Amino acid sequence: MSIELRPQFWKKYPLDQLNQAEWEALCDGCGLCCLVKLEDEDTQEVAYTMVSCKLLDCKTAACTDYPNRATQVPDCIQLTQKKLQTIHWLPPSCAYRRLNEGKKLPSWHYLNTGSRDSVMKAKKSAAGRCISEVDINEDDIEDYVVRWVR
Ligand code: SF4
Repeated sequence: MSIELRPQFWKKYPLDQLNQAEWEALCDGCGLCCLVKLEDEDTQEVAYTMVSCKLLDCKTAACTDYPNRATQVPDCIQLTQKKLQTIHWLPPSCAYRRLNEGKKLPSWHYLNTGSRDSVMKAKKSAAGRCISEVDINEDDIEDYVVRWVR
């Protein structure tokens, strides 16, 4: 049995009623969740850096080994609805975070525009503006904090 995307599923059904294909389709491919984040121990405030996971292609913001990412990067998170309730560091633009907070998908989301390019045009993607963790000295990580993750 093939699982299909129901028309306008992101507007019609709550997250817990999405099928697997619809859940996966929500991801806009921005790659922002694959950037290294720094958390303040006292305030739990999260700062994003422009430094990416070693598996992220910084030109396209796509994972270069998505099927095996959990093996290659053991702390890579497989996002589920349950985990969504406890993760506080997803970017405000993330489709999962927005729907979980009762918001709509942004106008630039590819499900609204029909084009995967729209996330880049809206400057909501890590593509073209990140650097791989393998190319930096990890002691310098604080130098890479950015403010464009919104
Ligand atoms: S931040 Fe959200 S929408 Fe962007 S790549 Fe990660 S899971 Fe997908």
